[in-house]
Amino acid sequence: MLEEEYIDSIFSEFSSLLASMGSPLPSVSAIAEGNNDPYRVLVSTLISLRTKDDVTLSSSERLFRAAPDIGSLARMDPETIAETIKPAGFYKRKGEQLKRIATIIEEEYGSRVPDDMETLLSLPGVGLKTASLVLNLGYGMDAICVDCHVHQIANRLGWVDTKTPEKTEEKLREILPRRFWIPLNELLVRYGQKVCTSVSPFCSLCPEEPRCPKKGVRRHR
Ligand code: SF4
Repeated sequence: MLEEEYIDSIFSEFSSLLASMGSPLPSVSAIAEGNNDPYRVLVSTLISLRTKDDVTLSSSERLFRAAPDIGSLARMDPETIAETIKPAGFYKRKGEQLKRIATIIEEEYGSRVPDDMETLLSLPGVGLKTASLVLNLGYGMDAICVDCHVHQIANRLGWVDTKTPEKTEEKLREILPRRFWIPLNELLVRYGQKVCTSVSPFCSLCPEEPRCPKKGVRRHR
């Protein structure tokens, strides 16, 4: 188990550095903030895959104006959904996917976004990251949402030694004290975008540099 004191110090160091850099909240958190509607978290997370944060935000807002709930999304045709979220990445495929998901949730789950991991993962195109964010941000449940940033930084810091986000999630459940489960994703996504970047991280700026083993980092700035 990782020491609470150690994780606390990382949270405070990383947050202070990000605040000094004026780093905004990731788009899905920004959408969920003040309105933790599982429907919005689910849809905006799906839009966010392979899409820049600012595009995710504007595309999601347009879609929520046209379809404020599951029922209205289920009644839209896939082409209109695609046009509404364009230029999000893979907007045509996402138009079809969102239509299918909304229809399933309306017909099989009484228009309520499921609140268990297994059912969420059974929805078309919903993976671990999306399902965890819905449980985490949408339902306030303790779920560790592991995306590529969390997976990479947890490995670089030497917390885990894993090959896939799924294995990282499993391992983090064993070693990370529970109170850090919900905020971990947001912090490390922001840190991965600004400092511990995927290619050539800015280790010279990072307060953890002296004790970070930098596992898997080939070059850094
Ligand atoms: S020292 Fe470098 S590799 Fe380690 S957490 Fe900081 S930025 Fe990432």
